[in-house]
Amino acid sequence: MPNFWLRPLTTFGFIGLISLLLWATANAVAALFFFSAALLLYLLFHLRNLKEFADWLARPETKNIPQGSGMWAPLFSLLYQQQRRQSTSATDLSASLERFERAAEAMPDGIVILNDKDQIEWCNAVAEAQLGLNLERDRGQWLAYLLRQAQFSDYLAAHNYREPLIVKSLRTRDLTLSVQMVPFGDEQKLLLIRDITQIERVETMRRDFVANVSHELRTPLTVVGGFLETLVDAEQVDPAQMRHYLQLMLEQTTRMQRLVVDLLTLSKLESGNGGLHEGPVDVPRLLETLKREALSLSDGKHRVHLDIGSADGLQGNEDELHSAFGNLVSNAIRYTPEEGEITLSWEKHPDGAAFAVSDSGLGIDAQHIPRLTERFYRVDRGRSRETGGTGLGLAIVKHILTRHQAKLEVESTAGEGSTFRAVFPRRKVIQLGKEAPSAS
Ligand code: ADP
Repeated sequence: MPNFWLRPLTTFGFIGLISLLLWATANAVAALFFFSAALLLYLLFHLRNLKEFADWLARPETKNIPQGSGMWAPLFSLLYQQQRRQSTSATDLSASLERFERAAEAMPDGIVILNDKDQIEWCNAVAEAQLGLNLERDRGQWLAYLLRQAQFSDYLAAHNYREPLIVKSLRTRDLTLSVQMVPFGDEQKLLLIRDITQIERVETMRRDFVANVSHELRTPLTVVGGFLETLVDAEQVDPAQMRHYLQLMLEQTTRMQRLVVDLLTLSKLESGNGGLHEGPVDVPRLLETLKREALSLSDGKHRVHLDIGSADGLQGNEDELHSAFGNLVSNAIRYTPEEGEITLSWEKHPDGAAFAVSDSGLGIDAQHIPRLTERFYRVDRGRSRETGGTGLGLAIVKHILTRHQAKLEVESTAGEGSTFRAVFPRRKVIQLGKEAPSAS
């Protein structure tokens, strides 16, 4: 404000000049009287502006800033500009804070912000769910106190946050969480919480799978190794005995071969390499082939029936469907005693179409049914091995059906028999010859 002094000096100059003129033209008393009265008025003018300023300070809102007059006008105008700037930057600040909170809320991971005393300042909804917190209730609380986990308290106290800590969620024990502290700013801390339940589950499955495969291979390898050792140590071996040993070794190597073939099939299906090469599959014709294969597998020990109630086909991969249906047929034969009945059917279904294999065999207790498609899950371990099972058949079936958007239904009664049904959605069912989705 370069001309701040100009107005008061002009006013004082003007009062002084009039007073001097009065002194010259009238007398000193009149001049003094005028001078005092003018100063008093000037003082009142300032007091009035000061009062307006004091009133505004009591309720400092930008829109209420007084206009002021004289030298106060530019002062109030400056104040107005400053207030505007401040309120704009406060609005910007609260908008960025809101943006940050929205971004942190949208994160798939849990976030908790702690102050220098490890008390909760803020957390997102994911963290609330993971740790069982409630921000409104728990703001300002010590996180370690709320979590009541010795492991976490030790982690906090150790001040070594390079590695995350793996803990079980307090709220739901079946959640596994990876929590990592990230110090920032003025002794503040950010706690990042990731749900690693799925990763842990996959890791456990991988470990179990390796253990199972090793276990499956160990028995035949031990048998083959044992016979070979006997043969190496024997001076002379009776040819009939030798043939017996070779026969047993052949059985074991065939078993290992079957396992390796099934493992490779599973791995190929899981990697999904090259996608699913689909084409029209003539299911009624495939059923005829399956029946022939079933008869040869059964070697005349079972009665095999065909029930073709639909002339439709499927849009899918013929080799994969043949393998899946073939597994179900082979299971029916292997788990059905001699003289049993086996029926292969292809029929319309409310969802689309269904291929089913029913047998009058051993049946399965209800508690096993949900786990049948797990790798290496067997109800009757002995019978599975005796009949050349690898424990991977239904896992392969499930994979193939999933790739064809189909589902596997199992109905079974122990001692009476089972029905394994593959249900295909309507969009996969085609009218053969036309190769368009079937209208029915
Ligand atoms: P496996 O090679 O042992 O037959 P699968 O994955 O094909 O392995 O089947 C898993 C288990 O389901 C089998 O071990 C068997 O106990 C049971 N199972 C499968 N199909 C039938 C069936 N038709 N009747 C009775 N049990 C069956």
